[in-house]
Amino acid sequence: MSSLIIVVSGPGGVGKSTIVEALVRRDDRLWLSRSWTTRERRPGEAEDAYVFVTREQFQQRIANNGFLEWTEFIGNMYGTPNPEAPIGRDIVLEIEVDGASQVKKMHPDAVLLFVLPPTREEQRARLQGRGDVEQKVEQRLQKAEDEEPIGKAIADFVLINDDLSATIDEMLELINAVRAKRA
Ligand code: ADP
Ligand code: 5GP
Repeated sequence: MSSLIIVVSGPGGVGKSTIVEALVRRDDRLWLSRSWTTRERRPGEAEDAYVFVTREQFQQRIANNGFLEWTEFIGNMYGTPNPEAPIGRDIVLEIEVDGASQVKKMHPDAVLLFVLPPTREEQRARLQGRGDVEQKVEQRLQKAEDEEPIGKAIADFVLINDDLSATIDEMLELINAVRAKRA
């Protein structure tokens, strides 16, 4: 049985990181890819949330064909290293829309779950609650307006992350349904 590629995408602050952490805790067949980024670590953010690198290190990895996909997002580079998932595990990528569409082009079988906030105001509150500085909050809200139509168009499933545990349950059910269909 070949492994699934599950892409979780959606605007900043919608809850993607929180959701994927829960998914891999709840389902041990899921393997979470750790991205590289040139952005600085946020206060309170886990040290292993990303591999935090310099622009030079990132460029070097691009030159070595070391990324499955990469993009520039609000002034920083983000990329998925070529995945090295253990055999039998399904790969989870938590990435923005440009990367998601690159992955879909390369791997049409990838399952794209696009997550939306209940409202823009709730998204703002989540970004502020997470401690993003005001300028970043505005940039991410603006970016969301551009990303959402594309994300919805390329998604296999669109979910609204209102109640967190309901969203996680729904995603696990969707993933199991896709597995059953592909088995
Ligand atoms: P993203 O990875 O999409 O940028 P995060 O996972 O960092 O978003 O979540 C942003 C903030 O919103 C975090 O403080 C998180 O705890 C909170 N959050 C996530 N999902 C929900 C939800 N359903 N209801 C309320 N707050 C949420
Ligand atoms: P953040 O700075 O909020 O952690 O991430 C900004 C955006 O970059 C989010 O939409 C996040 O999903 C996305 N992102 C994180 N890692 C990657 C990656 O490896 N590739 C791409 N294309 N986007 C990523």
